[in-house]
Amino acid sequence: MLLVPCPHCGPRNQSDLRLVGESHSRPDPNTATREEWGSYLYLRDNPADWLTETWYCRAGCRQFFKLERNTATNEFRNPPMPGDKIGIAPYTTIDVGSSGNQAGANVDGGATFTRRMDGGEK
Ligand SMILES: [Zn+2]
Repeated sequence: MLLVPCPHCGPRNQSDLRLVGESHSRPDPNTATREEWGSYLYLRDNPADWLTETWYCRAGCRQFFKLERNTATNEFRNPPMPGDKIGIAPYTTIDVGSSGNQAGANVDGGATFTRRMDGGEK
């Protein structure tokens, strides 16, 4: 049994999910050649190493998400946790200075927040 870390539901049995396949980007239809389309549609790397895959949580949240999995050991690397937003920029630190009346203010009156780029606070 393989436990797959769904970012919305948490770890779930592999039978609750569907492995869609290797994750790769779609070429621009206006500029792609026949060979690029053929490669996009039919060719996969299939390494015995780390691979970014697309999964579908068919028995839970019914969401598509990407995971990095070692195809030789079935180990997941940096899996998203429930509550994480998928596909957003990493955390950044914002110093709002000393003028704000913010929770978490420093002793000197300034405040530093670790904030997601979508506006949610950690
Ligand atoms: Zn799920």
